[in-house]
Amino acid sequence: MFIVLLGPPGAGKGTQAQRIADATKLLHISTGDMFRENVKAGTELGKLANEYMAKGELVPDEVTIGMLLERISRPDAAKGAMFDGFPRNVAQAFALDQALAGKGARIDHALLISVADDELIARLGGRWICRNCGRLYHERNDPPKREGICDACGGELYQREDDRPAVVSARLEKQKPPGALIEHYRQAGVLKEIDGQQPLDAVTRALLEAIT
Ligand code: AMP
Repeated sequence: MFIVLLGPPGAGKGTQAQRIADATKLLHISTGDMFRENVKAGTELGKLANEYMAKGELVPDEVTIGMLLERISRPDAAKGAMFDGFPRNVAQAFALDQALAGKGARIDHALLISVADDELIARLGGRWICRNCGRLYHERNDPPKREGICDACGGELYQREDDRPAVVSARLEKQKPPGALIEHYRQAGVLKEIDGQQPLDAVTRALLEAIT
């Protein structure tokens, strides 16, 4: 089964993807995580991506699509995956469709998590990430037991540079899923919209129901 998770930054894609991956054992592929790992490791790809990420802009398609296609060509992605943060536009969606068609597969579900703008801004400002294991927290909705410390591994929590207030509004404007992308999946008959302003557990339940 191949799933794409769609939604604006702050809709909860990363958090929900972790939960769906735990519940279904589907492989979780996040292009944002892949870029962040490259930035941390200081690779050429990371240096290039960071020029865009730090400004809240999308990394160019040729870079992102190349990275994603390489990832899904690996054996662990043969039977299924959940894409989180990809595709962000129609060109990326076509590239993904084509690659899956080459494996005799297709996107089975496109799950759109919807959240109002003012709520998104509040959420993005409060997001913290473990420097060590990548687990996500939110100071209001899902705080760690001890401030600044990861419950799972004891790692240090940090705030993403692109979650700082000046960058957040730019990201929202530039990175909402474009109407044409949503239309692409609607026309393929696989789009389902989930209300992302329900409590976390209710959103997870709705997403799991949508794919079973
Ligand atoms: P995310 O964790 O999905 O919010 O992604 C963090 C940043 O990585 C974004 O703000 C973009 O700069 C970049 N990025 C992630 N996925 C993509 C994508 N599919 N296309 C272009 N840029 C991306």
